[in-house]
Amino acid sequence: MLIKIQSETPKFKCNACGSCCSHIRGIVPKEDREFLKQNVFGKMPVVQLVPVEQMTFPLWDWEAKRFKEWQHEVNVDAKIKPLRAIMDLNSNKAIILTYFMDSKTDACPLLKDSKCSIYHTKRAYVCRLFPFNRGPFLNQDGMHLKEGMFGDCGAMEHILPQVPDDFNKMVKFLNEAFPDDSFLNAVQNDIVIEWMNKTIIDLMRKRIIKPAMNYPYNFLLERITNARTIDFTDFLVQVGCLTEKEKEGLISRFDDNVDAKEKLKQFEL
Ligand code: SF4
Ligand code: SF4
Repeated sequence: MLIKIQSETPKFKCNACGSCCSHIRGIVPKEDREFLKQNVFGKMPVVQLVPVEQMTFPLWDWEAKRFKEWQHEVNVDAKIKPLRAIMDLNSNKAIILTYFMDSKTDACPLLKDSKCSIYHTKRAYVCRLFPFNRGPFLNQDGMHLKEGMFGDCGAMEHILPQVPDDFNKMVKFLNEAFPDDSFLNAVQNDIVIEWMNKTIIDLMRKRIIKPAMNYPYNFLLERITNARTIDFTDFLVQVGCLTEKEKEGLISRFDDNVDAKEKLKQFEL
């Protein structure tokens, strides 16, 4: 008699080794590194303010605001600084899109005794999506889809070889294999990236912003450093694209992964 063996999707289980929080400086997938080096140092509307080797995990502006408060509660100076900005020639302001923690060491400054000192909070997407670097939705052409999607994590050994190549099967597999919601967080982070890119293009199309670009990088950097700054989501309120209440609603929507849950429904999971 033949016995049918049900193949179960393996489940990811973080072993809390702390490695992903111990090495946050310059950890950028190879292909992203090339893209960044070619595009965000003066040629595009978004300008990176530190070299790739110096950057650490990006924090969205609303996440950075929370981290600035939480760091005081745990008595840490996380050295939160702007990472990427648009120099807007209309308002003469540097619009800050993301921040980073410029700690002296390679480790996250909020890591204490190998434990995250703000683990009880919502933390940031970069904290909640690991072992993902990104979800599968930012590169739909199927080329090198899996490359760069995962960070270096020992607990991935038994999962990585089983990730299907077929896109729909992959999404279903990932949704089942990560009960810790890291996949959901990665998908939502992809959606936030898309939202930000589309919003910037929309602001340019409507001539609400006029980004300085194609200037020598050092000139742009100096201009941004000396400009008045405003966070991206606050700017959207200031120019009337969002009310304060709508901004808070949007951030809650992102925090609760509402868009990611809707997106994954399309895959009949
Ligand atoms: S996600 Fe991976 S690298 Fe990070 S603490 Fe868990 S097991 Fe370690
Ligand atoms: S805030 Fe916590 S989870 Fe995020 S990188 Fe730092 S130590 Fe890790």
